[in-house]
Amino acid sequence: MGSNPTLSARSEQGQSYGVPHRFLRDDQPSTPPGPEGSNGRGAVGCRSPAGAGRLPSAGVACSSTGASVSYTALARKWRPRRFEELTGQEHVLQALSNALATNRVHHAFLFTGTRGVGKTTIARILAKCLNCETGLGPTPCGECATCREIDEGRFVDLIEVDAASRTKVDDTRELLDNVQYAPTRGRYKVYLIDEVHMLSTHSFNALLKTLEEPPPHVKFLLATTDPQKLPVTVLSRCLQFNLKRLSVGLIAERMKTVLEAEGVPYEAAAVRLVAEAADGSMRDGLSLLDQLLAFGGGKVAETEARTMLATVDRKQVAQLARLLAQLDPAALLAFVASLDEWAPDYGDVLDALSTLFVRVALKQTMPAYEGDELHPADLLAELAAQLSPEDVQLFYQTAILGRRDLAWAPDPRTGFEMTVLRMIAFRPAGGVEGSTPAGAAPQTRVASPPARSGATAAVGSASSPSATGPSQSGAPGVDPARWAETLATLEVGGAARQLAANCVFTSRTGNLVRLTLDPSQSLLRTTALIEKLAQALSRHLGESLRVEVELGAAPVDSPARAEQRAVEESLDAARRSLEDDATVRGFKEKFGATLNPDSVKPV
Ligand SMILES: [Zn+2]
Repeated sequence: MGSNPTLSARSEQGQSYGVPHRFLRDDQPSTPPGPEGSNGRGAVGCRSPAGAGRLPSAGVACSSTGASVSYTALARKWRPRRFEELTGQEHVLQALSNALATNRVHHAFLFTGTRGVGKTTIARILAKCLNCETGLGPTPCGECATCREIDEGRFVDLIEVDAASRTKVDDTRELLDNVQYAPTRGRYKVYLIDEVHMLSTHSFNALLKTLEEPPPHVKFLLATTDPQKLPVTVLSRCLQFNLKRLSVGLIAERMKTVLEAEGVPYEAAAVRLVAEAADGSMRDGLSLLDQLLAFGGGKVAETEARTMLATVDRKQVAQLARLLAQLDPAALLAFVASLDEWAPDYGDVLDALSTLFVRVALKQTMPAYEGDELHPADLLAELAAQLSPEDVQLFYQTAILGRRDLAWAPDPRTGFEMTVLRMIAFRPAGGVEGSTPAGAAPQTRVASPPARSGATAAVGSASSPSATGPSQSGAPGVDPARWAETLATLEVGGAARQLAANCVFTSRTGNLVRLTLDPSQSLLRTTALIEKLAQALSRHLGESLRVEVELGAAPVDSPARAEQRAVEESLDAARRSLEDDATVRGFKEKFGATLNPDSVKPV
């Protein structure tokens, strides 16, 4: 570790804001011109030996010259040499392959996308396709002198320019002055201009002149992370390909392939962590993998990966989520205090927490969801059962907002504590108790299912004793006989109120309320309305509730029916009183009139 300045500096700091990959990323928004960057001419000393040399030795050999050299090894060694070897970007490869196969290759291409997604790699393979001695086509041989020289970055007709370092008009003019001369050896003279948006206006004008009337033996391959900065005149003369960010899964797959080929054993969770930290960039991912190999002494293990990336232990994140589910501020703050001893990056903890909540929400929506290497299915199932979907949404939202506001907090720990307290403060169960109907009040703060207490009590030492209090069958807050009364004060309108009015209360278990719907109103039984009703009930009773609506087999004695009955009774009464009315009787007797009962309405 001492041989790696980036890592040792960070671990001495204790705090972990300067995570290695961030360091790489933010300082170098574009492809670095150095070792692994655009032209491959730098750091020759660190080029990995051909064949499957074991990585640890490569790492050690290079680390004497510094961390930035060490990290290049894998990304360089495993840089794709053919289109088939590329990960992702199929949409681009297909278009290029077709153009090459039919020999209709445009004279200027623009590859855009974030760093490390393969812009210059694709451009270089394309240069080989154009110049391979075996013939123009989508599959260069990789054997001929031209292919090899392009791979090694020394082919005379491939002119690579890093615009980030050459922005003066003179440079570009000098470069373009030679455009009209035929290629020395190849079929085409290929100009590969990386970070082309960095060119000055004058340079763009010089380039534009050439793009307008390109000699037939010239191809321009432009690459940029920031196409918005390109003049429209240049954009409109290029065939543009947008490269996608790579998914965590794709990066992890590629890393596993590399590690297997290198004969390095690995833990899947470690690979996953590194792939997540790569943030869509294959190059960053492989660089981090290199760092991990150096850091862990040739091992790819989860513990080392977490230490290196300063990722918080997932057991602690899971524990935090459990404590949140228990709604116990004292236990939560005690846990944060113990967490602080690890000096975690609280932003990362919130990230990890929100990632976990997303997985829990997925599990709740799709019970078959399997999780991933970092979020095992049993943990997700446990949390999915403990938390209501609304809680998960609220916690997620609070976590990402807390993450955003962390910079404004007096210090990270305070910001973090405030965020977790906010999660339970705004949870429906923490709501005002004054508004709850009689009989519901005292125990509403503890809404966690009693069955879980065995697993959680061990850690949440201050776990509330009143958790055993509420009886499950007593249906606190919702009395079957007073469902109509509850309904009358429930703040819900429209179709959701109709749904509630046509139901009878059946039972309540934990936070699950079961209702039975009158079969004549089956159309009201929609997920959206049930959800709306559950929210209204949760608000009303000040605790988080779920609602299930079953369809009754026979008409049920719902508030709606009771109301209907009441209306009919008053109508009957009105009719009877009319029948008895002396004036009406007089009409009937004199004119043979009859009373139309349907026209009678109570007033
Ligand atoms: Zn070739």
